[in-house]
Amino acid sequence: MNYQELIDDAVDAARTHLGHGRVADYIPALACADPNAIGMALATVDGEVFQAGDADRPFSIQSISKLFTLALVLAEGGDALWRRVGREPSGNPFNSLVQLETEHGIPRNPFINAGAIVVTDRLLGLTGDAAEHVRRFLRSESENPNLATNAAIAASEAEHGHRNAALAHFIASHGNLDNDVDAVLAQYYEHCAIEASCRDLALAGRFLARHGVRADGERLLSRSEAKQINAVLLTCGTYDAAGEFAYRVGLPGKSGVGGGVLAIMPGRGAVCAWSPALDPAGNSVAAVAALDAFTTASGLSVF
Ligand code: GLU
Repeated sequence: MNYQELIDDAVDAARTHLGHGRVADYIPALACADPNAIGMALATVDGEVFQAGDADRPFSIQSISKLFTLALVLAEGGDALWRRVGREPSGNPFNSLVQLETEHGIPRNPFINAGAIVVTDRLLGLTGDAAEHVRRFLRSESENPNLATNAAIAASEAEHGHRNAALAHFIASHGNLDNDVDAVLAQYYEHCAIEASCRDLALAGRFLARHGVRADGERLLSRSEAKQINAVLLTCGTYDAAGEFAYRVGLPGKSGVGGGVLAIMPGRGAVCAWSPALDPAGNSVAAVAALDAFTTASGLSVF
């Protein structure tokens, strides 16, 4: 398989989609992202990397961090988490409050904001510093010691975070947060505001392609836990468009409003595409197009 040619072609095909979609501006500090940037990187289970376009340019990983917080919570605390958060697609926008009321403060899945706030609370309880735990994991898997949180983006999100604060307080009112609401939100904003490149994220996503085994050969998750995360990624990882993403790309994946999408090819590797302009569901128009072109040409979807 000529991965380099596939990645080059996928980025070329996706360039035709630049100019479509809108950069997220509900977090003001994200609004200045360059809508014409596009990058893609593929890291194999053995650590080979193929990349094209702006694959080395760091961007705000936003909700892609939720994949890592979930993995770290399962690694540190096992499946007790699933008493506090569900595993079903929500059918609602990522920041929706509507289902929380009928479901008594148990979020539908770990990738909508409500669920990710509960996961962050659990990681904070287990480790004492959720965001630092995520940064350390990403630095080590990507071998990039410079990977860090952008403090200005975290502050901008906190300042405009009324909806996340509402979600967190509502969850707390149902007794589903162990830590102080403000402390949990601060950690949540900090891990969402981590900056990483397509290359960093493709390398860091490999543990799911390696069925739970980290880059250094250490096992983070059991084979079964890795399978479970990939399943939840496939059904819930790309907002309220997970069906469309499965249809077009056919890989477990997690998107973020910074325009990144990290997808897992079980047994083979991980592939990350990035371009800041989003479709109405919150997924990057050009990054999804690049992944679509890649799996269509290579046949490397899970189907
Ligand atoms: N930090 C963002 C928020 O809470 C994450 C959104 C996303 O990437 O889905 O709104």
